Amino acid sequence: MNSSLNAARRRWDLDEARTDVVDVLVVGLGATGAGAALDAASRGLSVAAVDAHDLAFGTSRWSSKLIHGGLRYLASGQVGVAWESAVERDALLRFTAPHLVSAHPYLLPLTPAVSRGQAATLMAGYRMGDALRAAARTPRHLLPGPTRLAARRTLTLAPHLRAEGLRGALLSWDGRVVDDARLVVALARTAAAHGARILTRCRALALSGDGARVRDELTGEEFDIRARAVINATGVWAGELTPSVALRPSRGTHLVLRPGALGELRVGLHVPIPGERARFALVLPQADGRIYAGLTDEPLDGPIPDVPEAPESDIKFLLDVVGTALDRPLRRSDVAGAFAGLRPLVDTADTPGGPAGASTADLSRRHAVLRSPDGVVTVVGGKLTTYRRMAEDAVDAACPHARASRTARLPLVGAGPVRPGPPDRLARRYGSEAWAVRDLRREDPALAEPVALGITRAELVWAVRHEGALDAADLLDRRTRIGLVAEDRAAALPAAEAALAYS
Ligand SMILES: Cc1cc2nc3c(=O)[nH]c(=O)nc-3n(C[C@H](O)[C@H](O)[C@H](O)COP(=O)(O)OP(=O)(O)OC[C@H]3O[C@@H](n4cnc5c(N)ncnc54)[C@H](O)[C@@H]3O)c2cc1C
Repeated sequence: MNSSLNAARRRWDLDEARTDVVDVLVVGLGATGAGAALDAASRGLSVAAVDAHDLAFGTSRWSSKLIHGGLRYLASGQVGVAWESAVERDALLRFTAPHLVSAHPYLLPLTPAVSRGQAATLMAGYRMGDALRAAARTPRHLLPGPTRLAARRTLTLAPHLRAEGLRGALLSWDGRVVDDARLVVALARTAAAHGARILTRCRALALSGDGARVRDELTGEEFDIRARAVINATGVWAGELTPSVALRPSRGTHLVLRPGALGELRVGLHVPIPGERARFALVLPQADGRIYAGLTDEPLDGPIPDVPEAPESDIKFLLDVVGTALDRPLRRSDVAGAFAGLRPLVDTADTPGGPAGASTADLSRRHAVLRSPDGVVTVVGGKLTTYRRMAEDAVDAACPHARASRTARLPLVGAGPVRPGPPDRLARRYGSEAWAVRDLRREDPALAEPVALGITRAELVWAVRHEGALDAADLLDRRTRIGLVAEDRAAALPAAEAALAYS
């Protein structure tokens, strides 16, 4: 079946979803829900999957985009989580999304704040991470091992590091997805290619074991979707539909620094957080030239907002911490934007560190699959890296008689070979579809015009025709990330509206 998602397909799929009884209804189209829709559809089950807003509207677009090998979980004794992460990273790098996920280098500068003993412990940790890589069968050419660099080489890779007292750096590698929202789009489209009905702008109002009351947010119309099994994959909002699910949301903020704010930075940085032994701030150069710097971990009380705000206190904290490693302080004017996401951490009595009083940074990143008395299966917690395993576990629980999951080796849309020719940027974002995106200019040469960050009008039109973008916000905030910087978003808005009208 065709993998294209668009307004016409949505209308058609919506009509069918209202009359059929599907094997599985998935609620929530972040990485976990889109992964569950794919897992179920690729087992041959009939699937409807709804999201109140858009693909990747929730936490999945606010991540650091790391496809972790699990090192930090090893450090906290969570061997099972570490192993699962390494195995899932391997699947993404080698089989399912090699066009979107690749290895990236990170430097941990050995500043006076890092003692020699601490540096030796950190290097031992990186070596254990490398052993995990080998055990997961990820070839070294896809994910090189750690090394120690001299100060001079360190400064070539990160020229704005403070040279004074710098003893060099530890260089390590981990996986990274080019854009977390694109991973979700690829999952949803691959699910659609296996027959899943992907329905954005459809809010579940109430769930039961045999379906959901749903509201079409475009028309306001309410209707039922009937299903033999229901999976709640609404992340940090899961408790609103299934009140027995207890979560402790934690806010993570990233800054978006202007291109060039840190010179020619060619690697990511792990910057030690003063006063903390094993926590680091991250500096993450992006393919579009912007630099993300994160990451806070603050418990959130009260109602869950649709789009969390990054408070000034988080911004100041990150500027201060990252500035400790640089040759000049980072200023507020270096910040072009900021974004925050909410980790859907599971609050359970057997969480390592204990639920009562434990900081959210200590809560386990393990996922949970929970069945409520009415038969709804909720899958929550975990992380982007392990979305596939979460999805598999959820479908196993919801549909115990289904055949086994096939997704560990199932390539996502775009994962095929890329004929040489299109620019690297297109190949990294569209994989084997890069040519088709580029060839849109044959239809109208104006589609080759750039909109922002090297993104062309053709990419916006592609997103409307094939990636389920229904409005300008879908285009600017999720199919592309232009919207992360308010002035870029305002400048690109007319092009987004033109693309919707053109398509
Ligand atoms: C700041 C931060 C950084 C992170 N960095 C990383 C990282 O680098 N690597 C990593 O592996 N993990 C990372 N994580 C974790 C990871 O991002 C999350 O665990 C993951 O994205 C959660 O995905 P999800 O699909 O479960 O939830 P979400 O992405 O939040 O999806 C839930 C969806 O449900 C929808 N929804 C809600 N209510 C309803 C309703 N009533 N009806 C229909 N739909 C509804 C929402 O619109 C949303 O799209 C990070 C998390 C945060 C907060």
